[in-house]
Formats: sequence, C-alpha cells, structure tokens
Amino acid sequence: MAVCRGCGADKPHEEMVELTLAQDGSRGLCKLCQGAYNRAWRKKHAQHLLELGRGYRQSVLSTTKDLNLGTNGHGRRRHAAVR
Ligand SMILES: [Zn+2]
Repeated sequence: MAVCRGCGADKPHEEMVELTLAQDGSRGLCKLCQGAYNRAWRKKHAQHLLELGRGYRQSVLSTTKDLNLGTNGHGRRRHAAVR
C-alpha cells in the first residue's frame, strides 16, 4: 500500500502511477489523481498546445496542398467562368 499525495488515500501499488512513486519514495499519485493532474496541466498549457496544434496543422496543410489544389482550382475556375 502507498499513500497518494494527491487525495491522501491508502492505495494498493497497482493503483499508483509508477513514475511518481519512483520520484519520491513511497508517496506518489494514484491513477485518478494523475488523470486530474494531467487535465489541469493540459488546461494550464492549453494556449501553448493550441499553438503547437496550429503549427502542426499548417505543416500538414502545406504538404497536402498539392492534393487539394486539383479540386479547388477546378471549382474556382468554374465559378469564374459563370461570372
Ligand atoms: Zn489520489
């Protein structure tokens, strides 16, 4: 058994996160608290993650642009002809 430093509950080792157990001996985080911690971390770094995601999407778009260009160009040309 190990005491969770998050909720203070005595939990069996299989319910503890091994990473946090290794860091400071017997007191670690249980999987529930680790999940809550992860959610809080993500919320705190949401803006940063959003920017990371945006950068990723932009790099994906630039690589798939050539594939989309065929249909987009065709549609635009057709529209211009109607005008
Ligand atoms: Zn806990």
